[in-house]
Amino acid sequence: MAAAPEIVAVPAFSDNYIWLLHDSATGHTAVVDPGDGAAALAAAEARGWRISQVLITHWHPDHTGGIAAVVAATGAPVWGPEAERDKFAGLDHGLSDGDRVEVGPWTAEVWHVPGHTLGHIAFILPDAGLAFTGDTLFAGGCGRLFEGSPEQMFTSLERLASLPDETVVHPAHEYTLSNYRFAAHAFPGDAAIAGRLAEVQRLRAAGAMTLPTTIAVERATNPFLRAPDAAEFASLRQGKDSFR
Ligand SMILES: [Zn+2]
Repeated sequence: MAAAPEIVAVPAFSDNYIWLLHDSATGHTAVVDPGDGAAALAAAEARGWRISQVLITHWHPDHTGGIAAVVAATGAPVWGPEAERDKFAGLDHGLSDGDRVEVGPWTAEVWHVPGHTLGHIAFILPDAGLAFTGDTLFAGGCGRLFEGSPEQMFTSLERLASLPDETVVHPAHEYTLSNYRFAAHAFPGDAAIAGRLAEVQRLRAAGAMTLPTTIAVERATNPFLRAPDAAEFASLRQGKDSFR
């Protein structure tokens, strides 16, 4: 089995993270959701890496807006959701649930996880213990339902929560503090959530990022993974949408 990839979070816009995965043995460098091409290219260049593959979770411009710049600079092929092919430019290889993509020496499984968008996919790298969940599963939260139904998102989250505990999860946004403020409001007196909120507050006060997270932490503290059914999930999601 290949050693785990070197992973770098590239901050972009106000709260996005673009993820770089690098294999030192082969030099393969994948970028996940390059909303800002210049930021992704600069972060790779600063490390002496050349982006060789683009992976896209869903069509939203803050995840796809930098594809053209990355491809112009590197010629890297672009892999992303076939179901959203018409919603963004530059998709070379369309992916559907159950497909596999070679990412350097690792294999990514493609999971269709609709809810935030209808074609949203996640990249799961079981041999490296990694998951890239885009705007579906966040640390302490989940994506808004822009296109899908509560049933779809509930099923997508249940599926992601079934990953092994130690799986390291890489969402695409730094929403963790706001997510745990809501979690503490929705589950007052819950010690696990209160402890995580305090930890996240410390990290943000120090200017540190709160990601990645793990499936174990999310199962223990993410309120959206506690909903027993889609109806309760829907009411929790509505509560978060109006929470300030
Ligand atoms: Zn999105």
